Amino acid sequence: MGARVGEAAPDDSALFEQLRASDLEMATIGWRLASANAPLCDRLEPGLGLQLHTLDQFASQLRDSARSHFKFATPVAIEGVIPDGPAAQAGLRPDDSVVRIGPVDIAAGTGKPGTTQRLVAVQLAVAQLPPTQPIEIAAIRDGAPLTVTVQPIPACRSRFELELADNFSASADGSMVQVSSKLLETYRGDRVVAAIAHEFSHNILHHRDRLEARGVTFGMLAGFGGNVKYFRQTEIQADILSVYLLANAGYDPKAAPDFWRDFGPKYAGGMFRSRSHPYWRDRVATLEAEIARVQADPQRPHVSKLIAERDQPLDGDWQALLVRKR
Ligand SMILES: [Zn+2]
Repeated sequence: MGARVGEAAPDDSALFEQLRASDLEMATIGWRLASANAPLCDRLEPGLGLQLHTLDQFASQLRDSARSHFKFATPVAIEGVIPDGPAAQAGLRPDDSVVRIGPVDIAAGTGKPGTTQRLVAVQLAVAQLPPTQPIEIAAIRDGAPLTVTVQPIPACRSRFELELADNFSASADGSMVQVSSKLLETYRGDRVVAAIAHEFSHNILHHRDRLEARGVTFGMLAGFGGNVKYFRQTEIQADILSVYLLANAGYDPKAAPDFWRDFGPKYAGGMFRSRSHPYWRDRVATLEAEIARVQADPQRPHVSKLIAERDQPLDGDWQALLVRKR
């Protein structure tokens, strides 16, 4: 490599590869949780083990270098494949551009520059396909067409998204789990998985729908008035189910109390204490009690009783679920 001359362009490829690594880390966590826990989910999708991205999502000044770096020949390409997952086994590789996934035609979608609209539309359409039927995928690799047949495995229907943000955030909206890059980078390993499993639990337990059925207010007012008991109930339920999801996916469930022991005193104690969420020490105690229960459970996969109750209205009785720190 020659020396840099004058105003050399910043090295976008290092940034792109860093993005790819983080996205794939998130996708791998999502894949493990969603496939191992499929028996606990009532909404399934064909699990392909495929991390897609779209050229649209890159800022305009990066779009040309993104196009050449990731070899975009269509607006949607494979950012990464889960090692040994169905797509990898069928021979798909990172930087293959996608033409069609089953009946879902990439060119038919529309997307606004600067957004992931087109990608989300593709993901939602693919998620509607039968979860175990083979899917033909047409792609372009180095300019040449390629068609493979992928044998999916059933996975919980969910998107997992990494948000590039310099704050700690994790959320679930019923169909998607999102965590911030700062959370992923700060709590690498199983601890961030515990946070993701908590959010995923909200979706598996239909919490968004059940809270809406109770007429609660989201956002700033979530922690006030008659709403509090319902939010607390869903928070504790999500903690409890997260233990099962982690264990089923081969993660150490102790990562969940470990996460709270670090995160709690720094960011969820004192003046940062949220009224809609239980005190972090009680969350640790509740998680530890549930871990003991799961470890003694001979059943595989582990299934919480909350799964059978997920279509019942929330009763707001969070006190019956919470184990207080003694
Ligand atoms: Zn939560």
